[in-house]
Amino acid sequence: MTDGVMLARPIPGLVNASQRVSHVFPIPATPAPPRRITALCGASFGPGQLERLDNPSGMPCERCLTTSPQGARNPGLPTARLDAIERTLHQMQVQINGIKTALAATLGEHHDHDEVRRKDSDGLP
Ligand SMILES: [Zn+2]
Repeated sequence: MTDGVMLARPIPGLVNASQRVSHVFPIPATPAPPRRITALCGASFGPGQLERLDNPSGMPCERCLTTSPQGARNPGLPTARLDAIERTLHQMQVQINGIKTALAATLGEHHDHDEVRRKDSDGLP
């Protein structure tokens, strides 16, 4: 895995101006710079063919953005799953509460009142 990503675009003259988009590159884990570096979209560049961008500028590469590990799509998935789990849990909680209420209503007339009265009388002198 990689620690993060960086932005870089082809140097002037390498490609058409319309293709000089800011690609997203995974920062390699190795300390030595690799011979070729491949953007998230699959575009590959050799040494000296890229200028690194410290800030996003110009046209971003849309394919890089949609496949970016830090994009909105991937982090959304576990969150969506969590939401579904929480919704199911909430539904179960509602059902349990309903059962509790029904039980209390059924038992209340017979047991609960007696128990409450017994507990109260135990506590009182
Ligand atoms: Zn790209």
